[in-house]
Formats: sequence, C-alpha cells, structure tokens
Amino acid sequence: SFELNGKSVYVAGHRGMVGSALMRRLAREDVKLVTVDRREVDLCNQAAVFDWFAKARPQVIFLAAAKVGGIVANATLRAEFIYDNIAIAANVIQAAHVNRAEKLMFLGSSCIYPKLAPQPLREDTVLSGPLEPTNEPYAIAKIAGIKMAEAYRSQYGSDFISVMPTNLYGPGDNYHPDYSHVVAALIRRFHEAKVSGARSVVVWGTGTPRREFLYVDDMADACVHLMKTYSSAELINIGTGEDITIAEFARIVAEVVGYIGEISFDSSRPDGTPRKLLDVSRLASLGWRARTWLTHGMRQAYQAFLVASATSDK
Ligand code: GDP
Repeated sequence: SFELNGKSVYVAGHRGMVGSALMRRLAREDVKLVTVDRREVDLCNQAAVFDWFAKARPQVIFLAAAKVGGIVANATLRAEFIYDNIAIAANVIQAAHVNRAEKLMFLGSSCIYPKLAPQPLREDTVLSGPLEPTNEPYAIAKIAGIKMAEAYRSQYGSDFISVMPTNLYGPGDNYHPDYSHVVAALIRRFHEAKVSGARSVVVWGTGTPRREFLYVDDMADACVHLMKTYSSAELINIGTGEDITIAEFARIVAEVVGYIGEISFDSSRPDGTPRKLLDVSRLASLGWRARTWLTHGMRQAYQAFLVASATSDK
C-alpha cells in the first residue's frame, strides 16, 4: 500500500465538483495540500505547467482538472473538449514524470467505453468498439490520458493509475441551463418550475436511457482509498453498481425538490448512450463501496444548489 501521510498532495482542478470534494476528503488526511489557481497556471499552457511543477514539486497528484459538460456541451464544443482535455492530461502527466512525482491518479470517465459494450461495463472493454458519437472528442482525450498513464508506467516505471467514475453529482455541480449534466439540469428545472408554479416540466429524450449516479463525496473517498491501495496499469471503475432510467430519476428529482406537477419527455432531444452502468467488482474486491443513497445524496445536492443560487443572485 502507498503511504499518503506527510506527503505534499496536489489536486489539479480543486475548484471543480470532483476537485473540491477531494479537498474536503483530503482535509481529513495527514497531508500537505497544494493547489494553484487557474488564473495563475492555465493547465492547457505547457510552459506554465512545467514552471509551476518545477517549483511546487508535489509528491502525489490527483488529476481532477478537465473541461466537462453534459450531452449538449459535449456535442457542440467538440474542439474545446478534445483540445483542452488532451492538453491538460499531456501537460500534467509529463510534468509529474519530469519532477519525479511518486504517484499520480488520472480521472477518466465512463464515456470512454464503447457505446455498445456489454453492461455492466468492464474495465477491459475499453477500445473494443466505436464510442458514443456525442461525446467522442471528450472520450478520446480521456483515453489519451489513460494511455499516457499506462505508457509512463511501462516505459518509466511511474506509479500512475487511472480511475473511471460513473456519472457524478453533488455540491459544486454546474447548473448551466444548456451545458449541464442531467442531475444539475433537472434540479434547476424542477426547482424553477416549483417556484413559478408551472404545471409541467420537460425532460430531454425518451426517459428510457439508464444511468448510474454516484455522489461526489463518495467518489472522493474512493479516490483516496485507491490512491493508498491500488497500483496497476489496469483501469478501475468507480460507481455504485446500480442504475435507473432517466424517467425514474426525474421522479426522484421532483420528489426531492417538492415539485408536484407533470413530467413530460421531449424525444427530439438526444438520449445519448442507451445505458451506462459500470461493473464495480474490481473496486469491491479492494474493499470499497458507495455509501450515499441516491435520494439522500440528491437532498444534499439540492441544498447545495439552493445555497449556490442564493449567493449568485447577490
Ligand atoms: P451522458 O450521461 O453523457 O449522456 O450525459 P447527460 O448527463 O447530459 O445526460 C444523461 C441522460 O439524461 C441523457 O439520456 C439525456 O438525454 C437525459 N436528460 C434528460 N433531461 C436532461 C437535461 O435537461 N439535461 C441533460 N444534460 N440531460 C438530460
């Protein structure tokens, strides 16, 4: 196992949803947390990243920085998604290597698996078939990061690992009306419908796609667990092992928010991949499982949304 105690730990992307959950979780460890602001170091800028790393020389790195978004953001900002995410992975992984970091964790995504791979998605199905077209640029960038971690391990013996989270939600999510993921989008839409007294809320797609949702603080806990216990070129999935349909999920959001009107589906909007459930047996064999029930996590997420929208109104 890998000792975190006393180490300098850099969380790349510490203001994002996952990065800020990692910061909360790592505050409970005996580590020296290192972060750097985006205005100071743009992770897409190779020179800035290399300069900063040479000075900061973090021993342990959680690479949670990424340009992310929901199905529409992925499908429209295709160039930004592939460029930014390849640049971030390339710059940070190379800088970690040059500065002899002891360990690095690259955070991927479940969208790296082929669109029609058998469900639940096993780690060894990566690159076994075509990707979901809507988020292919993002997925290709994430696959590049995974393959970098693997190549640096094989050529240089670097202890670089890659983890694949399922769909994440929780405090710090992005509530952009077009570009957000389904959880944030529906929290916002159902909340606004409740406040305005609307009788109907539109959910995108047919309602039949199935998704797995993991609370972001569970994700952070799994990452810290794996940083300590996992060292392999093989990917490792992080999820709950359970999925639900978007229609069922919409009913949970309505209940949590307290919206009592109708729910309708707009099938002219994209469904994306039909099902996305991770096989979490590798993670379970390492002694970790998710603890936050979806309804409970959604209550926390809704509270965080209310706080965030109250602050942004000021
Ligand atoms: P995905 O998991 O990569 O497909 O990303 P999303 O979180 O954006 O979408 C998940 C599923 O939720 C897809 O089937 C969407 O069609 C569906 N969905 C329903 N309503 C919404 C919405 O308002 N926003 C988003 N982003 N997705 C929605």
